[in-house]
Amino acid sequence: MTVYLVGAGPGDPKLITVRGAELLGRADAVVHDRLIDPRLLSLVPAGAELLDVGKRPGDAGSVGQEAVNALLVELGHRHQAVVRLKGGDPFVFGRGGEEALAMRGAGIDFEVVAGVSSATGALACGGVPVTHRGVAASFTVVTGHAVGGEPPAVDWEALARVGGTLVVLMGVAHRAEIADRLIAAGRRPETPVAVIERGSIAAQRTLRTTLGLLATAQVASPATIVVGEVAALDLGWFETRPLFGWRVIVTRARAQASGLVERLADAGAWPVELPVIAVADAADAGAALARAMSRIGSYEWVAFTSANAVERCWRYLRDARALGRAKVAAIGDGTAAALSVRGVVADLLPERFVAESLVAAFPDPARPGASSVLLPCAADAREVLADGLRTKGWQVDAVEAYRTVRPAPGEDDAEALAGADAVTFTSSSTVKGFLELAGPERVPAVVACIGPVTAGTARQAGIRVDVVAPVHTADGLVDALVAWARHKSAADAGR
Ligand code: SAH
Repeated sequence: MTVYLVGAGPGDPKLITVRGAELLGRADAVVHDRLIDPRLLSLVPAGAELLDVGKRPGDAGSVGQEAVNALLVELGHRHQAVVRLKGGDPFVFGRGGEEALAMRGAGIDFEVVAGVSSATGALACGGVPVTHRGVAASFTVVTGHAVGGEPPAVDWEALARVGGTLVVLMGVAHRAEIADRLIAAGRRPETPVAVIERGSIAAQRTLRTTLGLLATAQVASPATIVVGEVAALDLGWFETRPLFGWRVIVTRARAQASGLVERLADAGAWPVELPVIAVADAADAGAALARAMSRIGSYEWVAFTSANAVERCWRYLRDARALGRAKVAAIGDGTAAALSVRGVVADLLPERFVAESLVAAFPDPARPGASSVLLPCAADAREVLADGLRTKGWQVDAVEAYRTVRPAPGEDDAEALAGADAVTFTSSSTVKGFLELAGPERVPAVVACIGPVTAGTARQAGIRVDVVAPVHTADGLVDALVAWARHKSAADAGR
């Protein structure tokens, strides 16, 4: 009943507005442009219609504007909430006005949700302030698409005179002609120019040149061209982040990869997900775990070694009260966090996130041989914890809570592997999974492991390990990789 014209921002999915994300989360249908990040489309509820009407260069079969308008009218009649998701801001060269007119004509309610336009957003990421005190007191945004039309859609001569900053969208193909016109109308050939290619996404490139040299600059679309003195102010930050330009493979199961993916992206890297493990039911479909959980209160301790184990156990608990007198031990911040969202604060969380530390920190049993610990674990878990606790005199029930299995190979696996600079391993099973999926010859140049156990598995498999995180969390892993990269680039610079 309502069609929402939503701006998606310039590229980074985080640059959508809160309102835009909320509407995607409850859309019945989404009609989107090409180049919309799949992470935005993943916000759309399962079962909603997803329609790509993006124009591909030279694609005769792309959907014309009339057809898009008709589609929006049809969907608008049929659904409660239709999102028309457009790059940047819907009203900045986005034909949002035409779509809004079509809705009005058909009597369909519409709303417009502003987006971060590349006209300012790409400049923010490129480190070019669009206005600057004493340098530029105005900016003009024009399309470079219509250069040379009759009558001209843009008065380039007037633009040359008006001064301030000139922001040209859709100008890559006609950049030579645009530069010629501005110079002919009086702008100096030395006028600084910045070109921000693929602004805000990991592949961003910022090029600095002059009006006189713009024609010969190598530029790929989409790019925003900035002409004016502000283009000489180099406040670049995006490309100076420590892992900028690095394509880093994340091997974790998809559901658990998000923390690591985000931390890597924060450091400027281009995280590529290659899930080499997936979490599956225990071989007995959870029967043993269900039995153990039904008498959970009879254990003195329950030791959780992963967030997966927590998640699996809670399938059989109504709520945390069922734990009764059982105390809770956990290995790892992620495990503790999985408990904490379920209302449980771990009684014991060893400083180092390995089984050996938990054994060392574990108390001695009050009644050796009679006091019991429940250990819900992965099918292929190391025996260190169970053996260590038994040696201390505990009776240990190690129950298979889940298995890690190989996911079906994805279509984009080969693409993910090609051109990767680094790989992150977060457990021994990710090392084994990677080797099975990709083979040893496709291990990227830099290998980073979350801790010594994982690194040991990698080395045993003949993989050279460059980075072992001293703190065994996603943050710790990224920090260690950043430190390594900084050290390496300092060493390379000093050579
Ligand atoms: N409505 C969009 C603009 C659509 S016109 C907005 O508000 O941003 C398409 C043009 O936008 C491209 O030709 C290019 O000039 C610019 N553009 C889009 N995405 C960009 C990006 N990630 N980086 C730089 N420029 C971009």
